[in-house]
Amino acid sequence: MAYRIEGETGEWEVVIGLEVHAQVISNAKLFSGAATAFGAAPNSQVSFVDAGFPGMLPVINEFCVEQAVKTGLGLKAQINLRSVFDRKNYFYADLPSGYQISQYKQPIVGEGTIILDLPDGESREVGIERLHLEVDAGKSLHDQHPTKTYVDLNRAGVALMEIVSRPDMRSPEEAAAYLRKLRTILRYLGTCDGNMEEGSMRCDVNVSVRKPGAPYGTRTETKNVNSIRYVQQAIEYEAKRQVEVLEEGGEIVQETRLYDPNKGVTRSMRSKEEAHDYRYFPDPDLLPLVLEQGWVEQVKQTLPELPDDKKARFMSEYGLNAYDAGVLVAERARADFYEEVARGRDGKMAANYVIGDLLGALNKTGRDITESPISAEDLGGLIDLVTDNTISGRIAKDVFAEMLETGEKPAVIVEKKGLRQVTDTGAIDKAIEDVMAANQDKVAEYRSGKEKLFGFFVGQVMRATQGKANPALVNDILKQKLQG
Ligand code: ADP
Ligand code: MG
Repeated sequence: MAYRIEGETGEWEVVIGLEVHAQVISNAKLFSGAATAFGAAPNSQVSFVDAGFPGMLPVINEFCVEQAVKTGLGLKAQINLRSVFDRKNYFYADLPSGYQISQYKQPIVGEGTIILDLPDGESREVGIERLHLEVDAGKSLHDQHPTKTYVDLNRAGVALMEIVSRPDMRSPEEAAAYLRKLRTILRYLGTCDGNMEEGSMRCDVNVSVRKPGAPYGTRTETKNVNSIRYVQQAIEYEAKRQVEVLEEGGEIVQETRLYDPNKGVTRSMRSKEEAHDYRYFPDPDLLPLVLEQGWVEQVKQTLPELPDDKKARFMSEYGLNAYDAGVLVAERARADFYEEVARGRDGKMAANYVIGDLLGALNKTGRDITESPISAEDLGGLIDLVTDNTISGRIAKDVFAEMLETGEKPAVIVEKKGLRQVTDTGAIDKAIEDVMAANQDKVAEYRSGKEKLFGFFVGQVMRATQGKANPALVNDILKQKLQG
């Protein structure tokens, strides 16, 4: 279903392009050896280069370059063997050098694609325009003193990848799916932790509206939105606002806006006319970055199996549908957990226990799979007990709940609580006879054609056996006996 905004003059379509700043996982900064650890004491991780001291020379960190190339390969993108670092000039208190080192016309990574997994199991491709490397700025702290602003330069010089999409998204949901998928890929690759709350992944949201099929309209750019939910809200608000402006005969001005999550609105920050002229020019302290194809090939060899490939494999190897496979591969740890459970067992059954039972339960308490009190081995053990008829699927639910609570092994719980399934036909015979004797009127009704009552008898027998009777045996024996 296409996302449309109803206006006075008909339906409007929203067009979205995202620019994501992803902090590179690296112990050292892009052009200095200073540390990058999050949460360190202010200004404790600052070299002379980061502090913009005159005469200090930047030296590129090869590992950060490798991380960017890895990310480019993960996005199926073109790797540019020659790229150039430029100075982007502007004045700000948290930018002591007076310029940011970035890449402008010749980025390290060119065009690529991301496949979105949409909630209905559909997928859709979004183009990547480029990925370039740049340094982060410091941080201005406005809330530490009543009249002063403090500057923390720990973040200054940390490597960022700016990943720019094409304007290929058409709804807030697609934008969310894009960010989720990008984050998953970055985490698989180990090139960015994707943690939006800590600011290691930030998003600028470009939005325009148009009548379906018309040329693109003028866009606005909402800066530094720091959660996927806020991105969705900012798009919804911004698209509606633009439709209103246009329908009243106004024009959209290309401008930078900010999202206020408390009010749920975007506000103008500066228009394109006031926008900076950054006066980009190649940084004279840095040579063009030249990579060898052989080195790029070596980096390629280190890539893990990526989410799309894993998803396809889960579907063919374990017979999963697209939705379940998508849920499982969304996190690498989750996919690994699943595979450990599924190994040598029924893949679909394993998926049901992992997704339906385990992820459902963990979700309720906001935990992820790495915090599961149930190990993959034990969940597999539970499935084995069902498969070999030691317990029924019904009893397995109770054992699962107990495992979640205590972390005990399934076999231990089954023995301790006497939950073994009754497959002894004598005991089942007896239970059935007792139930029939206590419900003679119903037996008569059944025999005179009211076959719907069969379920009632099954329920009674299961209750009499505390759910432990083997359901298949109960069915068979009950059928015989009721026939009389
Ligand atoms: P700039 O350098 O001014 O930020 P770019 O050409 O790099 O401009 O584009 C920035 C982002 O804006 C890209 O993600 C792109 O997809 C998006 N974009 C471009 N045109 C539109 C449009 N008409 N509507 C929505 N997004 C757009
Ligand atoms: Mg931009």
